[in-house]
Amino acid sequence: MDKADSSTIAKHVSQLHQKLAHIMPHHPPTLMAVSKTHSSSAIEAAYLAGIRHFGENRVQEALAKFPELKHNHPDLVLHLIGPLQTNKVKDALRLFDVIHTLDRKKLAESLAKERDQGAKLPDLYIQVNIGLEPQKAGIAPKEADGFIRYAKDELQLPVIGLMCIPPQDQDPRPFFQALRALATTFQLPELSMGMSADYAIATEEGSTIVRVGSAIFGERG
Ligand SMILES: *Cc1c(COP(=O)(O)O)cnc(C)c1O
Repeated sequence: MDKADSSTIAKHVSQLHQKLAHIMPHHPPTLMAVSKTHSSSAIEAAYLAGIRHFGENRVQEALAKFPELKHNHPDLVLHLIGPLQTNKVKDALRLFDVIHTLDRKKLAESLAKERDQGAKLPDLYIQVNIGLEPQKAGIAPKEADGFIRYAKDELQLPVIGLMCIPPQDQDPRPFFQALRALATTFQLPELSMGMSADYAIATEEGSTIVRVGSAIFGERG
C-alpha cells in the first residue's frame, strides 16, 4: 500500500471505525491516527474524516506540524507515543495532551518537578516492555508493580493507564492479556494497545485506544 490520498484516508478511517464498532459494539476503543512522517494535509484529511486523536513519535516533528493544526482545530487531541528524553519534557508539556511513554524513574521525577513548578501535566500512560525485549523501551514487567506505585502514589502523577508494543514475531494476544491484567491490578482504566497489524486482537482484549498509522495513511516515507 502506497501513501494514501485524502479520499483513501477517509475510506480507511470509516472502515476502521466500523471494524472497531463491530468487535466492541458497546464501547469501541478510541481510534488514534499515528501521523509520524505524514504531512499536515494528510492529517487534515483524517481530521475531516472524523479523527480527533493523533499520535506522534518525536517531539521535534510534532512541534513542526501540530501547533498550527491545534490552533485550527481546538478539539484535536495530541498523543506522544515515542520515547521522551528529559531534556525535551518542557517542549512536550507545551504541545502534547497525553503521553504514552512514561517508562523510567528519571522521567517520572522530571514530570513531577515540572508539576511542582506550576506546569499542568497531561494524562499519562506507563509503557511496559511486555515482551521483555532488550531493544524496546518500557519498564520491565517485573519492575512494573514498583514503578506504577511510585509514579501514581508516591509522586501523584496523573497516570490513567498502561501502554505496550508486543514483540513483532509472536502472537500478540497473551501480551495484551498480560497488560490488561496488570492494569486491572492497579485499577488503571485505560489500555493503549494495538497497531495496524494487531488492532483487532487488541480490541478483543480490552484496548481502550488503538494506535493506527499505516492502515490509515498508507506506507511511511
Ligand atoms: C508507528 C507506531 C504506531 C503505528 O504503527 P502502524 O503499524 O503504522 O499502525 C503505533 N504505536 C507506536 C508506538 C508507533 O511507534
